[in-house]
Amino acid sequence: MRTTTSLARFRYKFSTIFKKVSKYPIFKKKGRKDSFYLEGNIEIKNNRIKLPIFGWIKLSEKIKDLKGVKNVRISRRADFWFVSFKTEAKKEKIKYAKNSFVGVDLGIKTLATLSNGMTFENKRPYKFYKRKLKIEQRKLSKKYQKNKSKKEQSKNYGKQQKVVAQLHYKIACIREDSLHKLTTYLAKNHVRIAIEDLNVKGMSKNHKLSSAILDGGFYEFRRQLTYKCEWYGSKLVVVDRFFPSSKLCSNCGHKKEKLYLSERIYTCEKCGLRMDRDLNASVNLAKHVVS
Ligand SMILES: [Zn+2]
Repeated sequence: MRTTTSLARFRYKFSTIFKKVSKYPIFKKKGRKDSFYLEGNIEIKNNRIKLPIFGWIKLSEKIKDLKGVKNVRISRRADFWFVSFKTEAKKEKIKYAKNSFVGVDLGIKTLATLSNGMTFENKRPYKFYKRKLKIEQRKLSKKYQKNKSKKEQSKNYGKQQKVVAQLHYKIACIREDSLHKLTTYLAKNHVRIAIEDLNVKGMSKNHKLSSAILDGGFYEFRRQLTYKCEWYGSKLVVVDRFFPSSKLCSNCGHKKEKLYLSERIYTCEKCGLRMDRDLNASVNLAKHVVS
């Protein structure tokens, strides 16, 4: 039988380290994933929160007045402080049009092309802030660090570090925002949503999507869509990744032998259809789900 005394746990942990199964533990330290947990009678009123020990603290985000929250976790990200807690909420019931099927094709230039003709732009914030980030990072590298190995930093180093961290945070926020808007729109307004199943391992071969994966975050897209569909009662259909969504003609069903990546407009040899490549693919996805 395994004992759970702290000494036994300590021995067990170190035996795994010596066997090189696990790494040496990283201990908590100020400045590294700062977070803590508070318990007590927590209340939210007039955009302020009442916390034990701290008292009333102003919130920068507007939220509804609440009472009876039992515990909160306070964490720091890019020198902003966040408070998170659990609360009960009623499920939102949504009425949408009965036959609202939609196919979604993900891409680089446009984050998503929907079969109803809507497009969502890919904002690519990293590309936009790349230059600024570079400048700020260079400034950081010029700031004085007393002892690099011990990470003793000058005050100005710390200040600049904050600037860089907040820029990274800003980029992440913009990216998250556009993805959330897309997934919420999809889940809230459609009965069935068809997306392509993409395996990331084979993704490097697919030039069209490899960089979209990096900057757009396909996994995050699918994760959000999965839970949001559950919230709103819509159904997410993941179409087999061997389904030739971009090669098929959405009008007559003719399948092209070859489709070059440079062909932005899909032209059908049989029926003469001319359509945006991504739109054609998304319509095919939607059709595939209906049948
Ligand atoms: Zn055709």
